[in-house]
Amino acid sequence: MLLNCGQPLPLLAHTDVPPRVIENFILTGYRFPNYSLRECLLSAFRPTNETGNFWTHFLPVFVFLYYFVEVFGWERAPDSGAPFFYPLWNYFIGVFCLLMASSMAHLLNSMSLVVREVCFFVDYGTISAYTVGSSLAYYYYIHPRAGIVEPGGPRGSPDFSLFFDSLYIPSACVVAIICVLSCCNTRQRWREHRYVIRTLVFLLPFLVSSSPVFYRLLLCRSPCAAGTPGYFYRHCLWLLVSALFNISKLPERLAPGRFDIWGHSHQWFHCCTFLSILDELHMIKAEVRAILLDPDLGLPPAGPARLPGPTVASTYGVMLFLQTTIVSIIAGFSWRANRIYGPLRDQLEKQHPERNPKAHLS
Ligand SMILES: [Zn+2]
Repeated sequence: MLLNCGQPLPLLAHTDVPPRVIENFILTGYRFPNYSLRECLLSAFRPTNETGNFWTHFLPVFVFLYYFVEVFGWERAPDSGAPFFYPLWNYFIGVFCLLMASSMAHLLNSMSLVVREVCFFVDYGTISAYTVGSSLAYYYYIHPRAGIVEPGGPRGSPDFSLFFDSLYIPSACVVAIICVLSCCNTRQRWREHRYVIRTLVFLLPFLVSSSPVFYRLLLCRSPCAAGTPGYFYRHCLWLLVSALFNISKLPERLAPGRFDIWGHSHQWFHCCTFLSILDELHMIKAEVRAILLDPDLGLPPAGPARLPGPTVASTYGVMLFLQTTIVSIIAGFSWRANRIYGPLRDQLEKQHPERNPKAHLS
């Protein structure tokens, strides 16, 4: 909402906003924590301390889309709706929801303290759903028996077939749910160590979901598609750098107030997480291409390995189950947040009567 004279509301210093809203080492550029939806949307085009956070996850949606759709034009690629691509579409859903939820969470979080909490619960939920989307793609395109290596596992390598065949996807789902629960909890307790907990908690799904790649690269040393090792190591590197930004709060820690609008750690964190996603996409595409180009490496039952092919239930069904569980968890935490922060809304309106909608009418 704009002031009557058409000017946007002035931005606030960290001393003028509720303690809940304050980010470490960010001193200015805060929006009033009771913006209308329209004010929030318009704030994407004015320099606040959330503007960079919004754009660094919103623009990547289009970059990701550009590289993603290329797959369907490849030689020997089946129709985009074919079962072969179900896992890839689930990966797309995971990434798309993550980037959109994250950018919208940063844009809309100044509607109220309760909305702010809900925005970040949704953010954590979509990160977890993304890890399961990745796992589905890994399972069908990078699994040790996704047609690349000989049936029964390569000779001389440890046999983890029980884990990869039966436990891999359920483990990814359980870990994702633990992540949502833990991260949502850091907004209501364990506040002091929240950045460390959130970073560590997301290390676990990374390790579980990446296990087929680690296995292929480090243990069985089965042939990977050209480029896969490079893309994977770069994917890991970007994740590591993003975690360092998230925990260290550099560069704003060194010069509080200097990076309030542009260049603070969360923006670098967003950039690095997107670069890691992009390398992951390139890796998955390289493996998809290898399967498409060599008919002998086709997904079973066409190929020699025993891995069952993707079905609606084993891909979209898993994703739907996970999303439903995550939505229920978020609803529970949101209800609790409303009880904690709801009363503060009335308090804020009393302190700032000019922000009360009724005051605008009079
Ligand atoms: Zn963010």
